[in-house]
Amino acid sequence: MTDLYRRRMDRAAADAADAGLTGLLVTPGPDLTYFTGYRPTAVTERITLLVLAAGHGPRLIVPVLERPDAVEAAGAGAVTITGWADGDDPYAAAAALLDPRGRYAISDNAWALQLLGLQEALPGSRYTSMTATLPMLRAVKDADEVERLASAGAAADAAFEQILGVRFAGRTEHQIGTDLAALLLAHGHSQVDFTVVGSGPNGANPHHEMGERVITDGDMVVLDFGGLQDGYGSDTTRTVHVGEPTAEERRVHDVVREAQQAAFEAVRPGVACEEIDRIARDVITRAGYGEHFIHRTGHGIGLTTHEPPYLIAGEKQPLVPGMCFSIEPGVYLPGRFGVRIEDIVTVTADGGRRLNNTSRELHIVA
Ligand code: ZN
Ligand code: ZN
Ligand code: ZN
Repeated sequence: MTDLYRRRMDRAAADAADAGLTGLLVTPGPDLTYFTGYRPTAVTERITLLVLAAGHGPRLIVPVLERPDAVEAAGAGAVTITGWADGDDPYAAAAALLDPRGRYAISDNAWALQLLGLQEALPGSRYTSMTATLPMLRAVKDADEVERLASAGAAADAAFEQILGVRFAGRTEHQIGTDLAALLLAHGHSQVDFTVVGSGPNGANPHHEMGERVITDGDMVVLDFGGLQDGYGSDTTRTVHVGEPTAEERRVHDVVREAQQAAFEAVRPGVACEEIDRIARDVITRAGYGEHFIHRTGHGIGLTTHEPPYLIAGEKQPLVPGMCFSIEPGVYLPGRFGVRIEDIVTVTADGGRRLNNTSRELHIVA
């Protein structure tokens, strides 16, 4: 693993230099895990900072009490690790590793407190956000990452297959969501990040999580759920119907399914992200529901459940083998119902490979 992390750090330092940056400042969270495997147990106001800059080996500054854990996880061989003690000025210690006039990209989730401390210690330095400057830093997954995402996807699929067997009518969205969360954990997830259960009119709000609404016969129900397994994310959506659907409900579901399929079939290296969004949107627009598809078509997934690349109008980034993202078109009819279908897809040399493989037919539940 040390070699893998070293390669990631070297590539990032080179990418930073190509982007005109002095280097990268990585704080605890997905970026630090990606580069070193190190996940500090207690993330606090005490600064932990990995500095990646071309021409230097990777350097990590940590609170002295975290140093043993950092050495064990990040491998003293690959990263030079120094500790700072309570009572020291941590920003002076961090600043000693930086170019006083340098331009750095810093992790999106760095604490404002710490960035302000660095700016004060080095008034001539400048900072940009990691994803604004190097959006594709973690976007192209290696084979091991794709397989972890595939395992997380298979676990989410297994949870979905089982939820089809539970009773929906007469139970609340919250109860179905609790069932889903338990199933994700039972199938190997370490953490559940969201369980959207949007029944009837609630399905028309893509961000409705779940509430106390009692599901009844005749409801469409949007189920969108995911979390982390072995460090990597799952995120899938299926829409089910309680009892027999109406012709219109079937039609809207068919349109969304066709949009999702068309977008999936368009996935191949070199196609722009925005093109995948356009293809899904065109199907829905042609069917007359364009104004009801009110969000982008997809987002990248990896160590987090939302990250670049984004499948959205204006995103010219071409697809690259190894990228992993959702394809999740939807139609939302206010006050009535919503439909969304979502799979995680990875780009291979000859097209897309779905990491979610449950049926995309409209499922009838009881
Ligand atoms: Zn219905
Ligand atoms: Zn989702
Ligand atoms: Zn999603």
